[in-house]
Amino acid sequence: MDLSIIVPIYNEEINLPVLYARLAAMLDALLLETEVIFVNDGSRDRSLELMQGFAARDPRMHYITFSRNFGHQVAITAGLDLSRGAAVVVMDGDLQDPPELIPELYAKLHEGYEVVYAKRRSRQGESAIKLFTAKMFYRILARITSVNIPIDTGDFRIVSRKVVEALKLMPEQNKFIRGQISWIGYKQTFLEFDRSERAGGEPGYTYSKLIKLALDGITSFSDLPLRIASIGGFVVSGVAFLVMLYAVYARFFLKNYGIGWPSLMVSVLFLGGIQLMAIGIIGEYVARLGANTRQRPLYIIDETDLPLKKPN
Ligand code: UDP
Ligand code: MG
Repeated sequence: MDLSIIVPIYNEEINLPVLYARLAAMLDALLLETEVIFVNDGSRDRSLELMQGFAARDPRMHYITFSRNFGHQVAITAGLDLSRGAAVVVMDGDLQDPPELIPELYAKLHEGYEVVYAKRRSRQGESAIKLFTAKMFYRILARITSVNIPIDTGDFRIVSRKVVEALKLMPEQNKFIRGQISWIGYKQTFLEFDRSERAGGEPGYTYSKLIKLALDGITSFSDLPLRIASIGGFVVSGVAFLVMLYAVYARFFLKNYGIGWPSLMVSVLFLGGIQLMAIGIIGEYVARLGANTRQRPLYIIDETDLPLKKPN
């Protein structure tokens, strides 16, 4: 098997027929032994039926269906786990990632790289808020993490079998695949493309899912928030200690102590705020520690036409 193409799918019935046609046309011209793995991430529309139809009629097409919605990153992971290709492409199912770029990605990979990611030169049809938050997120992430996560790239990329096997060795529950791939290393490069509008249907990534992804990215690859919390805590309690000394001095030596209510409130609220912030940040990490110690399987497969391998 030369190439596996993994497409996570969540409620994409409108886009699937076009996606299939474009993938099939591209593959007909590519002349490689290829498998396309659609991962149905608990869609509530006819996506599953459609992909089962593709699999029945076209031997290159396969599907995995989950018992419920596990999320985009987990869907990709399941596809990687069952993929058999010497190279593996990950792409979105809403036609924002053009299948026609795959031959170029494939060719570039064989120039001696292990990872070729598709970098968005432009993004069409997305709200100003989404563009701004995405931009900020990638910039902040680049600043505070120790690994070099490429700016303005999603998960659209091609990786070699070596990288897939390395990913399988990373058992974390809170997946941030693009970060993990950067962490793995090897020779990586990129190709630029213009990201088009989602062809039809609604984005499956709600803001709460995006925030979770952003937090997973930050907490898996940076300890800076924790460090800020503890340094901030030390600084603030240091200042508070000085203020306390002054208060005692004023009380007993200067004999000038006012009603004191405003300063009391200010310091109590300020300290309370800092503490909550620090606890919140720690909580984000602790929650992820918890998820990893529970050692649950990452996903439950309901049905697939692919041979199931023992998870390692
Ligand atoms: N997706 C998924 N599970 C989810 C949400 C999204 O498998 O819980 C899939 C979705 O079908 C699409 C890809 O992930 O193929 C990207 O999702 P979306 O287009 O909503 O994200 P955006 O392009 O807005 O970042
Ligand atoms: Mg999209």
